[in-house]
Amino acid sequence: MFDEGKIVIVGASNVGTAVLNKIVDFGLASEVVLIDINEKKCMGESLDTSHATACVGSYNMYIHEGTYEDCKDASMIIITAGPSIKPGETPDRLILTKTNCKIMDSVMSQIVQYTKDAIILVVTNPLDVATYYVSDNFDYPREKIIGTGTLLETFRLRRILADYYHLDPKLVHGYVLGEHGNSGFVAWSTVDIASLGLDNMDEFLNHNYKLNKSMIEQKIMQVVYDVINLKGCTNTGIAMVVCRFIKAIKYNEYTILPMSSILTGEYGIHDVALSLPCMLNNTGIIKRFTPKLTDEEIEKMIASAKSVKSAMEAIEKKIEAVA
Ligand code: NAD
Repeated sequence: MFDEGKIVIVGASNVGTAVLNKIVDFGLASEVVLIDINEKKCMGESLDTSHATACVGSYNMYIHEGTYEDCKDASMIIITAGPSIKPGETPDRLILTKTNCKIMDSVMSQIVQYTKDAIILVVTNPLDVATYYVSDNFDYPREKIIGTGTLLETFRLRRILADYYHLDPKLVHGYVLGEHGNSGFVAWSTVDIASLGLDNMDEFLNHNYKLNKSMIEQKIMQVVYDVINLKGCTNTGIAMVVCRFIKAIKYNEYTILPMSSILTGEYGIHDVALSLPCMLNNTGIIKRFTPKLTDEEIEKMIASAKSVKSAMEAIEKKIEAVA
């Protein structure tokens, strides 16, 4: 059964407002609260979106700016606070580590004063560092903290492969895993199209040439920087990702999606947050899966762990060797 509930969004800029507007369009809550240090922006955005709900066909929702006290009875909190990479900047989300960990500190230390019940979706980059930071530094149930992780890249994989084969992206299954960032990788051993077998598709669809997997992988990892350089930010894709998580949680779906959480020995990796396929219901993450990856894919997963850990070293987090 659907739980209407209240959703708090922290950060009311490109990502936060795109998330707000999609929540409203999909009718995913009865009340949505925006929090940002920029109170004027928060008020303007919530007024604008609130008035749009008067249109026939819209859901009658209560949308307003608020304070952390609003977290008290929220069922979900979406953290989008903190800057993104700007056009022309070094194309690596890990450069945001110091700035955004400070912001996570300020946001999370206020959230914990009011709730330990809400499911927290971390969106802020560098995603895996932020997810680790929020999960490790505060007394909050770990299974209730979810990093959106590589679901966005997984959507990109579906779209790019679907365009290549000229078919519906929802027929593409499989995962991008590891870091939500430059060391993330397509786990090709998990990829399939319509249960027909990825390796058979060229033949079935009469392609004269073989799928170039590294070209597809490069496109998936590059597109974020292309979008940032072209339009100044990314927000629409991630807003859809957030809504996918909200639906899975509010409908108690027991679905499986790639998401970031702190690993506890999977593939010999621990004490770092990375994306693996996880089962999700209305209590949060209930199981992390370790699909049978190739040796090369496991090496890539370990490389992702090392990359995220070395970014955390910069903020003097304790680092333990990857087993
Ligand atoms: P932005 O710089 O436009 O906005 C950041 C907002 O955070 C601003 O409104 C700012 O006032 C607010 N803020 C800063 N410090 C705050 C604090 N202590 N408390 C409350 N609010 C605070 O950034 P954006 O384009 O909206 O992106 C937001 C974040 O989402 C970035 O870190 C970006 O990299 C990330 N992002 C993640 C994904 C993903 O797949 N996980 C995708 C896109 C963007």
